[in-house]
Amino acid sequence: MEVFNYLFVCSIYFLLWTLYSYWIHRLAHIPSKRNILFKIHIIHHKAEYGSPSWPRWQEYFLWYGNWRASADVWITLLLPGIVISIFDPLHGLPMLIFIYCYEVFLAGDVLDHNSKIDGKITKVFALGQYHLRHHRHVRKNYSFYITLWDYVFKTHMVKDGKSKKKKVIESVPVEVPSTD
Ligand SMILES: [Zn+2]
Ligand SMILES: [Zn+2]
Repeated sequence: MEVFNYLFVCSIYFLLWTLYSYWIHRLAHIPSKRNILFKIHIIHHKAEYGSPSWPRWQEYFLWYGNWRASADVWITLLLPGIVISIFDPLHGLPMLIFIYCYEVFLAGDVLDHNSKIDGKITKVFALGQYHLRHHRHVRKNYSFYITLWDYVFKTHMVKDGKSKKKKVIESVPVEVPSTD
């Protein structure tokens, strides 16, 4: 029963964590000179992703070559785990370690940007083609780890539409977030 309670609390934290990341990511797609999130996140969309490789030593410290790319990961993905770990280390620290390992070893080319991952698993987890679709259609698929919040806020895209060939990163479209 204690294990059940422990996992239940972790699940609640994880949902709140992914909800936060979803909205930070969505806000980061509002192009504005005053939007610091936009300035740091655009680097992510300019990066080249290829075949999986072992992390460089800087990436063990979650440093991705420049402050903007690094801050993007820290603010969007790590910050909630740090806050939870301060107030509730019993639940927060294991989750923070999980996210750290995911970001260092899996997030780049192994899972999130691995074009070979497609199909049913991408309906539940924001991996492979699901996340890569966000690179092609920047108004869609903001979720990290799980696709839930895209479905809740109706920003999910499970197949490429007619605008498939549109290059997106040089001109990230204007978007006013709404809770529709
Ligand atoms: Zn993005
Ligand atoms: Zn990406």
